[in-house]
Amino acid sequence: MKNQNYHLRSNSQPKILITEILQASNDGFWDWNIQTGEVYFSQQWSGMLGYLPGEIPPHVSSWEKLVHPDDMPNVMKVLTKHLNMESDYYETEHRVKCKDGTWKWILDRGRVIERLKDGTPIRAFGAHTDITEKKLLEQEIKRNLEKEIKSKKEIEKLNSELTKALELRNNFLSVASHELKTPLTSIFLIVQSSKRNIEIHSNEETLSKILRSLELTENQLHRIAKLIDDMLEISRIEAGKFIFNFEEFEMCNLINEVIDRMNPLAVLETGKVIEKNNFKNAKVKWDKSKIDQVLTNLISNALRYGLKNPIKITVEDLGHQIKISVLDKGIGIHESDKDKIFELFERGENTKEIRGLGLGLFITRQIVDHHKGQIFLESEIGKGSIFSIILPKIVSE
Ligand code: ADP
Repeated sequence: MKNQNYHLRSNSQPKILITEILQASNDGFWDWNIQTGEVYFSQQWSGMLGYLPGEIPPHVSSWEKLVHPDDMPNVMKVLTKHLNMESDYYETEHRVKCKDGTWKWILDRGRVIERLKDGTPIRAFGAHTDITEKKLLEQEIKRNLEKEIKSKKEIEKLNSELTKALELRNNFLSVASHELKTPLTSIFLIVQSSKRNIEIHSNEETLSKILRSLELTENQLHRIAKLIDDMLEISRIEAGKFIFNFEEFEMCNLINEVIDRMNPLAVLETGKVIEKNNFKNAKVKWDKSKIDQVLTNLISNALRYGLKNPIKITVEDLGHQIKISVLDKGIGIHESDKDKIFELFERGENTKEIRGLGLGLFITRQIVDHHKGQIFLESEIGKGSIFSIILPKIVSE
């Protein structure tokens, strides 16, 4: 069949010469004998894809091979619908492969122009329009729009994170300044009253009063120092500069050092020294100052939330691991707070009257994690809490 004298015939219509009409446009047309599978592809149809006339075998399988496999399911769906007389015409936008391997976007429109009485399609006719430029432009617009939406969403997310961070910072600063001012005020008062005592009368009784005042001062200074240490530790964690120095040492030295240091505070708060079980000594390889910090945190919490009841420390040798527990008979912790309190700035619901910053347990958990250990909490409201850590005796770096 030659393009120049191509005629479209249909049962119901007279012979129509359409070459002129189609050549006037840039569209390529196809004429498909559905029964035999033969297809006439016009010169523009093949030319659009970079083929010379006659280079494409005139069969529907040629077209099937050229349609992009990702687009084929939809093309077949639309086509089948039309062949089954469920639509008036067939129209899809899909990609078709060119001779040079690139893809062109094609608007493919057609209709069955001959059917048997029972509706069986005999012949269909249609045209290809190259819509690559339009499609690429649409895709570009879509991509830009998606980018815009994405960056808008990112900005909104950043904004809300920033607002939350500012809120947290303001809250933290206000609690921190209050926390630092409270012990400072009592230090001023103690120092002033000691000065007055020395000025007025200096005898044995006064000296023991001054000694007691100095002990109180020392405790308050410890409190401030701990707060400052905690705040520094948080900034180190946040900056990714949480550095560990693992060394071998005798575990009992560390436990006894911490207990001795905390005992004056324990006596002040509970009237008793910290109770401890008889434990076997062991050689451990930990970051000594960091585990000191963990124990100090757990003991100072037990004293602060312990309702002035004596507290106890137990140490168990589990073979390759050591378990250390700090027990108090204080306010206890609600079930719903048990995970939350290990997060930064998080505090239990029942601690409104006891001021705190929610730093200690966060730092504690980070240190335990760095020792490849675990921290556990058993607690009952009104009955008390047990914080336990299990650490490998020798932490491999
Ligand atoms: P802070 O005590 O400064 O608030 P922590 O991180 O040390 O910060 O503790 C977080 C929270 O865990 C506390 O606010 C408190 O609600 C709860 N908590 C910690 N230890 C105890 C304890 N021994 N008994 C009861 N609650 C505790």
